[in-house]
Amino acid sequence: MTHLEFSAGGIVMKWEEKSPEVLLIKDSYGRWTWPKGKIDKGESSKDAAIREIAEEVGLRDIELIDKTGEIQYFYRLKGKLIFKTVYIYLFKLKSNENLKILYEEIQDGKWFTPREAIRKVEYKGAKAILKKAIEKFLE
Ligand code: ATP
Repeated sequence: MTHLEFSAGGIVMKWEEKSPEVLLIKDSYGRWTWPKGKIDKGESSKDAAIREIAEEVGLRDIELIDKTGEIQYFYRLKGKLIFKTVYIYLFKLKSNENLKILYEEIQDGKWFTPREAIRKVEYKGAKAILKKAIEKFLE
């Protein structure tokens, strides 16, 4: 039987002087992506995204801009097939609050230009989601 899993994540962007930047983390599998994590029971996906951003990278001064979309994938854990949905939101960092990587599993975290960020993400569908978020941020 396929197990269903639901997570939420956030693409956090900011203005550095007059240039837009995107936050990416290198996950425990060594791939650049955005902060995300499992939605708790009774928690909304938006609140889960906000909580995960605070827990993983220490950013709290963020404002919701848009619901960017969803990514779905299958993966296997201890032989079990998992079908996962990740709800993705776009946030703007409102201050120059510093990035603090708070999870040991996260190998790195950095601000990138939009072009670099689009190049860095590898997961299927991630480039399209990121492009959509960046376009919205620049509207
Ligand atoms: P969570 O942060 O939601 O608690 P997790 O660390 O338990 O997540 P995932 O990050 O979903 O789990 O990783 C499980 C598997 O799925 C890994 O093999 C990972 O490389 C892969 N994976 C992660 N993100 C994606 C994605 N966007 N598309 C496809 N596969 C992904």
